[in-house]
Amino acid sequence: MKILVLGAGIAGCSIVHQLMAANQGLEVLLIEQRAGPAQETSGHRLAMAHPQIAMKKTKLQQFTQLGNRLAFQEWAYAQKYEGVFQPMTDMEWRSEAWILEQFEKIGITPREANSLDCHEAESLTGIHRPGIWFKEGAVYDLPAICKMALSQLPTEHCLWDQKVGAILQSKGQWQVLNTRREVITQAPILILANGLGVQSLLGSIGISLPMRAVRGQLSRFLIQKDSYIAPKLPRTALRGNGYCLPGRLLHTGQFTWEIGSSYDEDSRDTEYWQSSDEGNRLKGLDLIGANHPHQAELSSYESFVGVRSASKDRLPLIGPIPNEDGLLIATGYGSRGVIWSALGSRLIFAYVAAFLADEARLRTGFLAGASPELESELASSVSPARFLAGALAKRTSNSKPILPVS
Ligand SMILES: Cc1cc2nc3c(=O)[nH]c(=O)nc-3n(C[C@H](O)[C@H](O)[C@H](O)COP(=O)(O)OP(=O)(O)OC[C@H]3O[C@@H](n4cnc5c(N)ncnc54)[C@H](O)[C@@H]3O)c2cc1C
Repeated sequence: MKILVLGAGIAGCSIVHQLMAANQGLEVLLIEQRAGPAQETSGHRLAMAHPQIAMKKTKLQQFTQLGNRLAFQEWAYAQKYEGVFQPMTDMEWRSEAWILEQFEKIGITPREANSLDCHEAESLTGIHRPGIWFKEGAVYDLPAICKMALSQLPTEHCLWDQKVGAILQSKGQWQVLNTRREVITQAPILILANGLGVQSLLGSIGISLPMRAVRGQLSRFLIQKDSYIAPKLPRTALRGNGYCLPGRLLHTGQFTWEIGSSYDEDSRDTEYWQSSDEGNRLKGLDLIGANHPHQAELSSYESFVGVRSASKDRLPLIGPIPNEDGLLIATGYGSRGVIWSALGSRLIFAYVAAFLADEARLRTGFLAGASPELESELASSVSPARFLAGALAKRTSNSKPILPVS
């Protein structure tokens, strides 16, 4: 069976890897508008992942915890720093017993995280504050993951430099069309993993999916070694309101320090913004408990800018489009692409297996217990069907797609 995957970011590459690993004779074809993998939002080489700590067990927390376990096991080769510390303020910190109680409530195991008092934290991280140490937390290089994920895919199965302008279903086949509306290729199964682009391609068959663009900028700063900040730089990655990496000493004797990320809703601008660097400076100083007047010691050096795709409820959109046999999507990964992609690829594979087994319930857009890792309730909470039921009822026709003007 031939399967088309659109988009070579971490979402699409993980899906390709999962479909190939299943070894079920599937012929996977990857289509991407850029010349290679990880050239848009997944061009990020310093993405952090850790399980989520919440006051109660929410779907977001559960999906994140499950996803993080898989990412941590599978992508050890792409980890740049292992372990993440979440410092807590005096207001947040109650007692170690209280933290352990929270862990128990939401199912965080001692293998995943433990609490540190301020002395333990200082000796491990350089930060004299109590908090949570995520043992199963790390900073990942997304292009390295994408490259490795595609290593088993024959080169002739990668269609680079192919921008898809529209999709169309014809006689049980999903056709992908270029911007001149010529058919590039077709297959019974099409998986759209092209970030925000999913929205316009669904629009080409008359389906409106609510999604938001959220611009983000990660800043790299340069710091002089005789500055006030230099001795306060952390030795491990930190998270809180934003995140930062350990300070790194250059051969020049200066330090570099990465802090992220801005969260600019409804912007798709990929240019550098000075205001994002300013915001990131303050986030970094708060994380290490330093005073804001020292922000001038952080000189802007380099930055990474990307545009996240987000859903209305902050959960991803992973699963089939109801009543459109063989059409699946994996998008809306927001700020958690590294955390959710391995799990997302498992879920997509479970849907593909259900499709191949011709399970009628798939037509509703929900999966019933086909994945050992995901209870159907959790799978349903990320299904695109949660946003589409009303929209589909309003649609007039499936047979006349509205093609975008190229
Ligand atoms: C500043 C910043 C910081 C972040 N920090 C973290 C973090 O710490 N931890 C974390 O987990 N996540 C983080 N993220 C989020 C993470 O980077 C994203 O969730 C992830 O990269 C999204 O992957 P994707 O595959 O969905 O999208 P992309 O990587 O954007 O991939 C989509 C692909 O589809 C292709 N495409 C689009 N439209 C078409 C078309 N019509 N035809 C052909 N190809 C098409 C694109 O070229 C692209 O290659 C951060 C994001 C930003 C911007």
